Amino acid sequence: MLRRTLLLLCVLLVLPGCRRESSTPTPTSDSKPGIIFITFCTMRRDSLGCYGSEKALSPELDRVAANGTVFDDHYTNASYSGGAFASLITGKYCHHHGIFDHPKRLADEHSTLAEHLASAGYVTAGFTTHIFLDKRYNYDRGCRVYRDDDPDAASMGRRATPAQNTNDARHWIRSLDSRQFFLWFQLQVTHFPYEVPKRFVRTSADQLDLAVLQYWKDDRAGNAKARLMFDYDSFAFSDRATASAMVLYESAVNYADYLTGAVLNAVRDRGWLDECIVVITTDHGECLGEHGHHFNHDANVYEPVVRVPLIVKLPKSMKQPERIKQVTRHVDLVPTILDLAGVDLPTDVDGESLKAMFSGSTIDLPAFGESRPWQASRAGMKHYEASVPGVTGKIRMVRKGDYKLLLTPRADGDVVRLFNVATDPGETVDLAATKPQVRDGLRRLLDHWFAGYAESATPDLQLSDEERRALRSLGYTD
Ligand SMILES: [Zn+2]
Repeated sequence: MLRRTLLLLCVLLVLPGCRRESSTPTPTSDSKPGIIFITFCTMRRDSLGCYGSEKALSPELDRVAANGTVFDDHYTNASYSGGAFASLITGKYCHHHGIFDHPKRLADEHSTLAEHLASAGYVTAGFTTHIFLDKRYNYDRGCRVYRDDDPDAASMGRRATPAQNTNDARHWIRSLDSRQFFLWFQLQVTHFPYEVPKRFVRTSADQLDLAVLQYWKDDRAGNAKARLMFDYDSFAFSDRATASAMVLYESAVNYADYLTGAVLNAVRDRGWLDECIVVITTDHGECLGEHGHHFNHDANVYEPVVRVPLIVKLPKSMKQPERIKQVTRHVDLVPTILDLAGVDLPTDVDGESLKAMFSGSTIDLPAFGESRPWQASRAGMKHYEASVPGVTGKIRMVRKGDYKLLLTPRADGDVVRLFNVATDPGETVDLAATKPQVRDGLRRLLDHWFAGYAESATPDLQLSDEERRALRSLGYTD
C-alpha cells in the first residue's frame, strides 16, 4: 500500500528521482535548422588554433570556425562544471537554477534547451560523459535519447568512454528520419588526468615522465589533490614531469577535436551540416600554472578559467562575421540558439539573444562569474584564495568593457581587485587603488547581481560511498 502511495505521489508530483515519460513530440516538419551543441569540459581557449594556438591541436574545430564566427570575449558564469552546464542548458545564473555547488540535482522548474526545442518539434538527444550530467542530476530533461553512462555498468562512476559516446552519437545521427534535430554532445577528456589513447599522445612514451599524473591517481583519499592544485611548487616535480602533463593536456585537446570531427562528419555524410547551427563551447577553462593554480578551475575566476571558447556556425544561407569582439555569456546561449532557430524565447532566462550581433549590432553586456564555495580541505594551502565559509564565500567577478573586478569575501574584509583585461589578460596589475570610479561602479554592479542569493536553495543529494569515491577520483568533493 505504501509503495502504491509513493508511486502515485511520484506520478503526481514528479518527485526527484522519479523519471518522467517523454511528452508527446510535436510532429516534425523539417522547417527549422538542425542544431549541434558541443560542450567540452575544461577546454582552454588558447589551446585552439582559431584562438591563436600554433600547435595544430584542433583542425576540426578550426574548420567550423573558418565557416563560422569566433567569439573573442565569451565568459562562463561558473568555474565549476555543475553550475556552468546548468547555465548552458537553462540560460539562468546559478542563484536562479540553484546549482551553486556540485553535485546537485537540477530542479524540474528550470526548463532546458532540449525541452524548448522538443516542444517546437525537434528530435532531441544528449550524449554526455560528465559525471555531473548523469540522469540522476536531471540534466537529461527534454532529450528523448540520453546516453550518459556505460549500459553495462550499474552505477555512477563508470562512464561511457569518449569513443563509445562518439560512436553512439554517430549511430543516432545515421538513424534520424528528420533533419530537424537537436544533438547535445559532451566530452570530458580535457579534464585532468587526461586519459588519452596512446596514438593521440603527442610525444613518444620514453619522453614522458608521468610523476604528476601518477601522484593524482595514487591519491585515493582525495584531499592531497588539493596540494597539487594549490601548492605545486612544494612537490619538486621535474621539469619533464610538468612538461609531460602539459603534453597530455594538449593530446587530450587533439583527441576531443578528433571525436568532435567524427560526429560532425556523420552529419556531413547525411548532407545536413551546411544548413545546421553548430555551437561549440566548454563549461569552463583551466589554470595550468597561472596565479599559482595548477590543474584547477573551480577555486578561481581568472581569465584562463572564465574566458572560454565559443564558436558558432550558422546555416550557410545566413551571413555571419568571422569574429565578434564583444562580451558575451553562457546564459545568452539558450535564447540565442532558440532565436536563431525561430523558436519562441522563454521569459524566465537571465541571458539575452545575441542574434543581432551576427548582423553587426553592439550589445553592451556585463559578464558575471563565480567559483565554487570555500572548501575546508583546502584551507591554508599556499595559493588557495581562502574566503569565508559557505556559499557566500564564493570568489566572484564582473567584466564590463575592458575592465574586470574580482571580489574575494573574507572575514577580515573583502578583497577587491581590478584589472584591465583588454591590455592585461594575465591580471597582473591591480588597478583597484588607481581607478576608484571604475572599481566602485563594477562593485555596485556585482553586488546587485547576486543580491538575495539563496544560501541553500537546492538540497544535497544523498550519495553512496561508491559515488563519493567516484567523485573524489576526479578531485571534486571536500
Ligand atoms: Zn567541467
